[in-house]
Amino acid sequence: MTGIVVFGTRPEAIKLAPVIGGLRNRLDPHSVKVVCSGQHRSLLTQTLHALDFAVDVNFDLMVHHQTPAEVVRRIVSALDRFIQDHKVDWILVQGDTATALAGALAGYLTGTPTIHLEAGLRTNDLNAPWPEEGFRQLIARLASLHLAPTQAARANLMAENIPADRIVVVGNTGLDIQTHTMKTMGDVRQGDAMPYFLVTLHRRENLGEPLAAVCGHLETLLNSYPGYRILWPRHPNPEVIETIEAHFLGSGDRLAIVDPMDYPDFLGAMAGARVIITDSGGVQEEGASLGIPVVVIRDKTERQEIVDLGLAAMAGSRGAGMEEAVSGFLGRQIDAAAVTRWREIQGNGHAAVCVVEAILQRFELR
Ligand code: UDP
Repeated sequence: MTGIVVFGTRPEAIKLAPVIGGLRNRLDPHSVKVVCSGQHRSLLTQTLHALDFAVDVNFDLMVHHQTPAEVVRRIVSALDRFIQDHKVDWILVQGDTATALAGALAGYLTGTPTIHLEAGLRTNDLNAPWPEEGFRQLIARLASLHLAPTQAARANLMAENIPADRIVVVGNTGLDIQTHTMKTMGDVRQGDAMPYFLVTLHRRENLGEPLAAVCGHLETLLNSYPGYRILWPRHPNPEVIETIEAHFLGSGDRLAIVDPMDYPDFLGAMAGARVIITDSGGVQEEGASLGIPVVVIRDKTERQEIVDLGLAAMAGSRGAGMEEAVSGFLGRQIDAAAVTRWREIQGNGHAAVCVVEAILQRFELR
């Protein structure tokens, strides 16, 4: 049997890395092909450099100013041909990207079973995050095995009438690779340098005016906390850069706007931060796992457990609640038991083993 693992962006590569290693250990390595759509180019090249897996095929489909519809169309078409030429028996996709949806669509249209990793995350608002919420709901309709990170994600799938025997709670493979990478990095805690807020912002639905409003709140934060600085590895999306540059005219005294960081360096930057301010899904999970408070620049989150545990606070997609959330976190200690609980909820860094087991069992590959 031949299986393909399909990915195209930074978060997919990071969360799939431990699974690819596990599958190649347990199966004939030639029977598992790693296919990159090339949905993102620069971020992915940088990320792959830091991760330990080889890509078998790269469609390299990215073009400038691509729309989600064009991305999906090009990837479905390339995968359709690939699946037929290589007699593919199963497809693994991760998360909520255009590549993941295209993988599930190509699987459905060629009669190839699709396995969905990180299944069941929901805000139940098709506009937030857009287009990711729609993508993951659509993938759930098409997949034949749903690998949920948490019990809450499983409950979301059950509520959509996905049969219980098609859902396996495996944990979050992002915590596996985070734990493994941090172990190899040694002590990354901050020394005597000025404390900082770490910022990442890239959500498509917040580009333009909402992002400009967030920049205003970051400026207020710098003024309110003269003893702090901001470290902001900015996303390469031209619209993100345009808005930041229109507001801040580049880095300042206590504002470092830098290029995207290598994954291990970014983990180090998270571990050293006083508060993380982000609209990213993965960064919410990772910050909370490290016990660093997270201020979420969104109206809705599909990771409600982190908020309920007191490890993150919602500040709205325009950042209106940012100052209050930051001051709340600076005034109290993070509850260590809540961090332990969040790591347990995600499978304590052993998710990839469960993923590989679930796939072997589903396709009777043992
Ligand atoms: N990340 C990184 N370098 C950076 C910023 C983020 O390696 O400069 C990693 C981060 O550790 C996380 C992932 O990228 O694992 C999150 O990706 P992104 O925010 O693009 O996507 P999302 O998680 O929102 O889907």
